Amino acid sequence: MISDGIIQGRLTAVRAKFDDWKVHGLLIGNAANRRWLSGFTGSSGQLLITREQAYLATDFRYWEQATREAPAYTLFKHQRTAEDGERFIRTAQVDRVGVESQHTTIAELRQLQKIKRINWFSLPETVEGLRAVKTAVEVEAIKAAAAITDYAMSQVNQIARPGMTEKQLAWELEKMMREVGADGMAFPVIVASGPNSALPHHRAGERPLQAGDIVIIDMGAELNGYSSDLTRTFYLGSEPGPQFRHIYELVHLAQTNALQKLRPGMTSKEGDALAREVIEDAGHKEHFGHGLGHGVGLEIHEAPALTWRYEERLPASSVITVEPGIYLTGWGGVRIEDLIYLAEEGPHLLSQCPKNPIIN
Ligand code: ZN
Ligand code: ZN
Repeated sequence: MISDGIIQGRLTAVRAKFDDWKVHGLLIGNAANRRWLSGFTGSSGQLLITREQAYLATDFRYWEQATREAPAYTLFKHQRTAEDGERFIRTAQVDRVGVESQHTTIAELRQLQKIKRINWFSLPETVEGLRAVKTAVEVEAIKAAAAITDYAMSQVNQIARPGMTEKQLAWELEKMMREVGADGMAFPVIVASGPNSALPHHRAGERPLQAGDIVIIDMGAELNGYSSDLTRTFYLGSEPGPQFRHIYELVHLAQTNALQKLRPGMTSKEGDALAREVIEDAGHKEHFGHGLGHGVGLEIHEAPALTWRYEERLPASSVITVEPGIYLTGWGGVRIEDLIYLAEEGPHLLSQCPKNPIIN
């Protein structure tokens, strides 16, 4: 359970933005934002936050849980009717309310707009930026999830064999993660073999692994609401050709450069360039088409982004992946991904899995 001090600090931080947003209240429905602001882990509910009050509306299934998990909030017992929706909004007695534009459906917005004398303000972002800065408790939670992916990845050498399909290997890894305590997968395990390894987000399919394959495995465990994210690239066989060695070393070098030099205060673009320039200088600019990384926490992809597309500065105490890749259509690809805590002095690795690409 999150301490009351942390919840009050988060409420203060979000209220401090009300003037900029020109609102007197904020309605939150997104599950990760809701959990971060209140501690409530149920799958259905809304928060309504004003300068003085914090309300949590949820239905019968979660009343008991809400009382326990979100003691800082006044519970509003919702029956999931339109009338209750309106009564809940009216409780706050505010006329200018911010709503999460990225997480509100058109149908939900139309329903809200039927409530008379309330102006709705569409906010592209509410607490996502605040969530990027992790508390020590959150970092520990992510580390615990990372230990699960580290463990399963370290077993790949033992279990990956020619003849087994991508899906079979993915299932073996998923079982292993569940057996050591994962609540679930942060996303479906990616096993991309042979030419499929040139597809950055290939879904594990029916292709049997073959001797001489490159195999990219990308997986995330979920534990107590927090996720991990880890990628390793393997070569199935004892004699990888010079091209595999070259591309693997290049991706590894690009990742090492970023892991050594990333600092808070750099822009997202500057951080991304630490790896991208190494790959571009080797002539593979066109083959690294995705960003270098992304924030991880209550969601598998969250702020801050680590990509050339953004100029925002990377905050200290964020948790980010560093995952350069090179993908050559028809041949295959290499991606290496680790999870870091970005401290003032630089990255601390949260994933500890070794990088031994050869599977004999
Ligand atoms: Zn990943
Ligand atoms: Zn990732």
